[in-house]
Amino acid sequence: MSDKHTFIQQLLVDEQLDGVLVFSRVDLRYLCGFTGSDGVLYQTAQSCVFLTDSRYQEQAQQQVEADDIRCYKSKLQGLADLLEETQARRVGFDATSVTVAQFEELQRLCSVDVTFIPLTQCWETLRSIKKPAELMHLKHAADLNRNAFDTVMSVIRPGVKESDIALELEFTLKKLGGEATAFDFIVASGVRGALPHGVASDKLICAGELVTIDFGTRYQGYHSDETVTVAVGEVSGNLRQMFDIVLEAHDSAIAAAKPGIRACELDAVARDYIGSKGFGDYFGHGLGHGVGLNVHEFPALTSKNETMLTAGMVVTIEPGIYLPGVGGVRIEDTIVLTETGCECLTSIPKLFRQLP
Ligand code: ZN
Ligand code: ZN
Repeated sequence: MSDKHTFIQQLLVDEQLDGVLVFSRVDLRYLCGFTGSDGVLYQTAQSCVFLTDSRYQEQAQQQVEADDIRCYKSKLQGLADLLEETQARRVGFDATSVTVAQFEELQRLCSVDVTFIPLTQCWETLRSIKKPAELMHLKHAADLNRNAFDTVMSVIRPGVKESDIALELEFTLKKLGGEATAFDFIVASGVRGALPHGVASDKLICAGELVTIDFGTRYQGYHSDETVTVAVGEVSGNLRQMFDIVLEAHDSAIAAAKPGIRACELDAVARDYIGSKGFGDYFGHGLGHGVGLNVHEFPALTSKNETMLTAGMVVTIEPGIYLPGVGGVRIEDTIVLTETGCECLTSIPKLFRQLP
């Protein structure tokens, strides 16, 4: 029996459910192989039924692993009919992928006997341990990042717009076979580097600045996420010091990443080091996050998350220092936890790099 099947059976028992509804696109892709934009899966102990609209009927026949594939005119009415037909009484659903409006409408359409149970951390937990095929896709997406950066590096020089660097990266990644950008790329130079989420603007790069570039792509549904900070021309001793501190925090977190460590403990490795150098107030975000079919997913590496990391989890390690009015540094790799430690999937060297 597959681990997906075991997980679902256990979920039905634990929550005393007759069945569970799956709405989110990534969960549908993960659980039954469907890559379209509209569908829903109803899974019981005995069978699973996939429902979609007429646009996706043919695609679903080719892609979806299910006992029955049905077509609906209205998704919620189609679901209500199915629940009635199977005489479901307690039905679970992922609370993060259904809106209040959809939920209320579904309740209205169903008989009063059906109780809906919102579930949290359901498929995300299952999806957090990556299988070999998923790791191959993640590695491929990471390799695209490296190849694109090698090509675009020569563009980064004084007088070039941040947004042009982002555009070149986007274009190159697509040309190399990336399916889509993983998010709006961050290219933050000089004082803008102090904005942890400074998406590329029309600011021109100047000599003497650090430039933080955070970018990623998607391959077979799986994402890459990586950040490099480069110096353009000679930078001040202050900026160089910030860079060295972030790199050391990044390296020591990667050295400490292994199965059995808690997310908050790993976060603390980098956070304590940055704090010991006097920059604790300027590292405001968590150390990292899970990466997979979503670019941000379970588990979050934050000071509050006590989740124990296990082999097969893929997370980012991305400490940073953001000093208002001065600039910023972030260094990010995506790693996979192995039986004994971890391996980097992303491979752009993170050493200090001064571009002409
Ligand atoms: Zn990133
Ligand atoms: Zn990230």
